[in-house]
Amino acid sequence: MLSVRDRFLPVSCPTLQADEIDRVVDVLRSGMWTTGPVTTQFEEKLSVYLDNTPCVGLNSCTAALFLGLLATGVKPGDEVIVPVWTFAATAHVVEWLGAKPILCDIESASLNIDVAKAEVLCNAKTKAIMPVHMAGYPCDMNAIADLAQQRGLIVVEDAAHAIGTKYKEKKIGTLSDVTCFSFYATKNLAMGEGGAVSCPDPDLAERIRALGYFGINKSAFKRYEKAGAWRYDVEALGYKYNLDSMHAAIGLVQLEHLDAANRYRRHLAARYREKLPVGIIPTVNSPEHYHTHHIYPVILPEGVDRDDFFQNLKKYNIGASVHFMPLHLHSYYAPRYPRGSFPVAEAVFERIITLPMHNSMTEEDVDYVSEVCAGLIA
Ligand SMILES: *Cc1c(COP(=O)(O)O)cnc(C)c1O
Repeated sequence: MLSVRDRFLPVSCPTLQADEIDRVVDVLRSGMWTTGPVTTQFEEKLSVYLDNTPCVGLNSCTAALFLGLLATGVKPGDEVIVPVWTFAATAHVVEWLGAKPILCDIESASLNIDVAKAEVLCNAKTKAIMPVHMAGYPCDMNAIADLAQQRGLIVVEDAAHAIGTKYKEKKIGTLSDVTCFSFYATKNLAMGEGGAVSCPDPDLAERIRALGYFGINKSAFKRYEKAGAWRYDVEALGYKYNLDSMHAAIGLVQLEHLDAANRYRRHLAARYREKLPVGIIPTVNSPEHYHTHHIYPVILPEGVDRDDFFQNLKKYNIGASVHFMPLHLHSYYAPRYPRGSFPVAEAVFERIITLPMHNSMTEEDVDYVSEVCAGLIA
């Protein structure tokens, strides 16, 4: 069989795109380390990137999801539809508000929420729906918009994987009430820790901004500037989720290179499709949408043990992961849902594994992973 390479290939990692280091050092020298003009510059550039949709920088996507629900009025007792196939953040923020996440099964090909099943879960208490664009592949946003309109639901998108993704011709971040992005260390646009919301309604954006900083209005950070006044007013019980200048400086560089980075991952994904052995089902793709391939989950052939496969990849110095274990299989959510509640998610979970996908990879890396996979299922 294939010889083992010396270098470990991680499943995900951040990639320096250009002068992130210098830009952070500039911020450190400037004396403005917290939220300031560099944060504003990042928000403005992000807004332009999202076809002039207002944006607010925050310190995580989790904060963005939480504030998105809070600012749109989700209250204790409300129900919010969340796909069972996601990271804990999406459902946890609903719990934090005293509302109830109602988990929903997914479509097997896209790993995205099954909107027909979501419709069945709606009742008088349903207040919002949270589509998650798995791996950067967009949910069926027309169907979600129709459902939201019929039922009067708020749409808060978890676009942690999906900056740059297009649904048909439209960018994710321009479509719904609130869209939440993650700039966590391994995401398409990486800062280490960071996030943002985009919302077409500028008043809602400003409400989210204030709620992300103790409920203090927009001018709060101006108090550090020459023109700023010392006086500010606390208008609401806000939180502390603001985006600082050092992370924003990294984000500015990453944003400049985002489209090129997304194009490169699409190129790597096309190569995986070509090189992976027959029997392994590659990540979904469609010419209708612009898939940004944040991660690369594949479905293993029936009868291949996923956990053994994972260990065997490690022996070949290849990192892998599983995105995600369905939420109802985690101890915290398990008591509410018996096994069998989400047949599609449960069946997919048995056979799914995430192969390496990031901007520090080469074509040769894809070829090596593909050849190892071929050997392991032979
Ligand atoms: C990464 C991730 C989040 C959380 O993002 P943070 O910026 O780390 O808070 C939320 N949802 C999904 C699907 C994610 O992958």
